[in-house]
Amino acid sequence: HPALYSDPHRTYELDRAHVFHPWSAQADLDPIVITRAAGSYVWDRDDNRLLDFTSQLVYTNLGHQHPRIVQAIQEQAATLCTIAPGYANAARSEAAHLIASHTPGDLDRIFFTNGGADANEHAIRMARLHTGKHKVLSTYRSYHGGTQLAVNVTGDPRRWPNDNGSTGSVHFFGPFLYRSAFNATTEEEERDRALEHLEQVIALEGPSTIAAIILESIPGTAGIMVPPAGYLAGVRELCDRYGIVFIADEVMAGFGRSGRWFAIEHDNVVPDLLTFAKGVNSGYVPLGGVALSDAIYQTFARRAYPGGLTYSGHPLACAAAVATIQAMQEDKIVEHAAFLGEEVFGPALEQLAAKHDWIGDVRGTGVFWAVELVRDRATREPLAPYAGSSPEMAALLTAARRRGLLPFSNFNRIHLVPPLTTTAQEARAGLRILDEALTEVRAQWMP
Ligand code: PLP
Repeated sequence: HPALYSDPHRTYELDRAHVFHPWSAQADLDPIVITRAAGSYVWDRDDNRLLDFTSQLVYTNLGHQHPRIVQAIQEQAATLCTIAPGYANAARSEAAHLIASHTPGDLDRIFFTNGGADANEHAIRMARLHTGKHKVLSTYRSYHGGTQLAVNVTGDPRRWPNDNGSTGSVHFFGPFLYRSAFNATTEEEERDRALEHLEQVIALEGPSTIAAIILESIPGTAGIMVPPAGYLAGVRELCDRYGIVFIADEVMAGFGRSGRWFAIEHDNVVPDLLTFAKGVNSGYVPLGGVALSDAIYQTFARRAYPGGLTYSGHPLACAAAVATIQAMQEDKIVEHAAFLGEEVFGPALEQLAAKHDWIGDVRGTGVFWAVELVRDRATREPLAPYAGSSPEMAALLTAARRRGLLPFSNFNRIHLVPPLTTTAQEARAGLRILDEALTEVRAQWMP
């Protein structure tokens, strides 16, 4: 097949003829053909090198083609490509053991899925069976996956066209000081008012009807809103008070992205269920899962759990997870992510905001940063509407790409989410490109 795979024009033509792409109107798509990748870089069909500040969909946490993960997949493929979930298998056992060694508290049992959406679906099913209740509370400005229930609990516009079945999902506002739903002016005020609001929602929906609250420990795609200290602890307390299962969605924020193994550790909170995917194995082979507390595990100790997947704990995916987690431990990747946040991204983005007055807000932690662009700092009018884009945002992305940077964008925001293995030098190079692109587009579009 190497001959077949070496013609990028054929790749493009076949894609346009036969590949149906997610979340898109198909007719006018113009996908970039990627021919190879290494570390923090990808190459397009004209052999332009692009610094990958997206980690694709925020999942290649150890960068592209990490030799240790590639080797682990090759060795597992040569030994045992696959075996059904009912059997015990070394790759699956070791992956579960390693994941459990990093999840908080007593979350020591691992149910494997193929990705994040199905992890959340199963977590909600577990919560419903554990509590005997049905409703699920989740925040506006969140993303939990593209399957029916997962997209119904999602709090972003991807929910709108799919919100057509009764799933018992109820939305509330999480804390987000920059666009506060509570007229708050400090993080403490935002936290306290957001918790009061959540308690009112619980009271009005009826505590006896609510199975779970599902939250991204740090909402990702929706804007990387790091919650104020004490908010997640407050949610924990409300869950305990009202007999509600706390599901922490760590699909994007987990596995080092925030500068801790799991983002919920920033608030020292132990949820009842924790979902993961993406960074667990850098996405080299699809893998997700749910970590269960002992109390929820006990619900299914003598009663069958009514759910499963053909590929639950697929050996190739689990071997990739083992190699990823071992490399993260030995190479101190989580510490490096924290360093990049504190020493590189934090200070550099503050300087960038001081220089460009159409940056309304910068926020983040670790290797998980958002730059919010506005037309006017005083009114905070976004540079693109919620659920939309704008010519200025499109121009900014084009300008960055022309200079060799692949940024992640969502509405009026640029997210800086490169691999955790990115060097300080690469990170600074990417930030310089963003600075130049901002200068160019501002001069051209908003003179
Ligand atoms: N949860 C969060 C926080 C996510 O960011 C995503 C994907 O971006 C998902 C769930 C869904 O994961 P998947 O696309 O693997 O189903």
